Amino acid sequence: MTTILVNALYAMSGICAYAMIHHGLIFIHQRTSRINMLFAVMCFMVMAYILAKARAYSAETAMELVTMRRWEISAACIFFVIFPWFVALYTSIHKLKLQFGLSAFFGLIFSANLFLPYGIQFVEFPHITYFDLPWGEYLVDLRVLQRSFWHNMLWLGVFITIAYSYYACRLQYQRGCQKKALMLACALSLFFGMCLFNIAVNLELINFVHLSEFGFMSLLLLLMIDLTSESSRMSQQMHEVFDHLPAAVFLKDLQGHYLLTNLYFDNFFHLNKADIIGKTDFDLFPREQAKVYQAKGLQALETGHEVEVEIEVNRMIDSDDRLRIIKLLQFPLQNAYGTSYAVCGICIDLTESRRNDKAIHKLRQQLWHFDRLSRMGAITASLAHELCQPLSAILSNSQAGLRFMAKDKVNLEEIRAVLQDIVNDDKRAGAIIHGLHAMLQHKEMPIDDIDLVKTFEEVIGLMRNELVKLDINVNRESMEQLKVRANKTQVQQVILNLLMNAMDAMSEQTTQRTLNIGIVRAEDNALVSIHDNGVGIAEDMLEKVFDGFYTTKPKGMGVGLEVCRSIVELHGGKIWAKINPSGRGVIFYFTLPLTL
Ligand code: ADP
Repeated sequence: MTTILVNALYAMSGICAYAMIHHGLIFIHQRTSRINMLFAVMCFMVMAYILAKARAYSAETAMELVTMRRWEISAACIFFVIFPWFVALYTSIHKLKLQFGLSAFFGLIFSANLFLPYGIQFVEFPHITYFDLPWGEYLVDLRVLQRSFWHNMLWLGVFITIAYSYYACRLQYQRGCQKKALMLACALSLFFGMCLFNIAVNLELINFVHLSEFGFMSLLLLLMIDLTSESSRMSQQMHEVFDHLPAAVFLKDLQGHYLLTNLYFDNFFHLNKADIIGKTDFDLFPREQAKVYQAKGLQALETGHEVEVEIEVNRMIDSDDRLRIIKLLQFPLQNAYGTSYAVCGICIDLTESRRNDKAIHKLRQQLWHFDRLSRMGAITASLAHELCQPLSAILSNSQAGLRFMAKDKVNLEEIRAVLQDIVNDDKRAGAIIHGLHAMLQHKEMPIDDIDLVKTFEEVIGLMRNELVKLDINVNRESMEQLKVRANKTQVQQVILNLLMNAMDAMSEQTTQRTLNIGIVRAEDNALVSIHDNGVGIAEDMLEKVFDGFYTTKPKGMGVGLEVCRSIVELHGGKIWAKINPSGRGVIFYFTLPLTL
């Protein structure tokens, strides 16, 4: 006996099983691809449908026929419960009410099929009759010649679903996804054609068996072709993105063998892909470099977190450009159970940005130095006056010494006292010059723990003469002995700028000029305040005065406060100005982090 159709059905169910596994695995690997999950379930249902149909064609008893047809309709109903949701994902046209309505409708038919005594295919207990196929195959006749209400409802639901799907295709086509829309329309048309064939068979217009399973198959095959090409298109796009990322990316196995690198990686290190894959860092890079790469990779695996390192690498080409600074970031890739299975790494070339940073740093240092020079110029007169005092003392002491030595009887005690005075005066003069020199030097001073009160007093010492000349009363309100981690010259520059601004602001004043200074602790910071009773600043200008080149002085340059802000912020502090709430003038505050 020939069994061509039945065997063809078994073969078709095998294809469905393959499609189900393929798309199920895609879903398992890419949790986000819900469309593959729905498609896998649809494949499973078509497989069940075809198997039940194949068994029904060769049923030996009427009971077996009823059971198989019940299974067949159940599988078809579940397929149609899912199908509207699949169409919505495929076309990105979401009509939630319609989708829910269709799913509920097929859910109802599914229940009816389970609870009716002979399923929805049979009105009464059937008798087995047979059908002869032209090639001599002898099968159970599955035509539905006596149609129940539920059977008709099933067909109604199928046609509404097809109509809805065509509608979604049209909208998708209008949105510009012509190719996908046409693909679905073709698949639907084939399915629809097979459905019409089935109805014609049931109405005995065509003397043949049902071919609805071929309709299901063609629908699945066309959709599968599209989904598969979509997924290969996506992986192609991901590959291109991967290759064109502006960073070197690589993947290594747990033993440190390279599994994957992008184009940027190959070009950056001047390596051939064929030479990289399967190699370790020690095969590809100089020993010291490889050691760092490997150690950081291991650390990432051990901690389960990303590990970052900035290193200078050799690009292994004979040019001046061979040394580059890179940031290497490595992190473990983990499976669903949290077990690491590979290490992924990203290298970002920081050379240019580091060069720019250096240039900015240099420029900033020059600006600060220039600002210091200009401020110092302004107080040189005062310093010259300061120096006169010890110098004239040295002169008069030396002259006194000479006179003592001209006496007949030299008194050594007197000479010693005179020389001691000369030493002390010389030290004073030296301290003044040293202070000036320290502030004027261009070289970078190290960050150190500095005594803030002492630093403040040194600056006031430099300006003493000016303060006396302007008759400014300096009140030290509360001077807590605090240490901050800072560059001393730069902190002196901030204090000097603020003091000179305060003096300028008070210079025109006729009433008593007063400067209140405070150094207090504020949490982890030292808070310095400099409060004058000068002309003050308009409230809306309190922020603006810190902008570069803002000045109200005829000979001002407007960089002083800008320099103060950049220095303070570089030290991790803040600077701001406030109007004196109870009187004239303005209060400048700045903070610096305390030594830990
Ligand atoms: P410059 O001193 O060269 O003008 P600054 O950046 O140091 O540059 O100051 C900018 C402006 O801020 C000054 O021109 C002045 O108008 C204002 N200013 C700064 N400090 C005070 C102050 N203590 N009292 C009043 N105005 C001030």
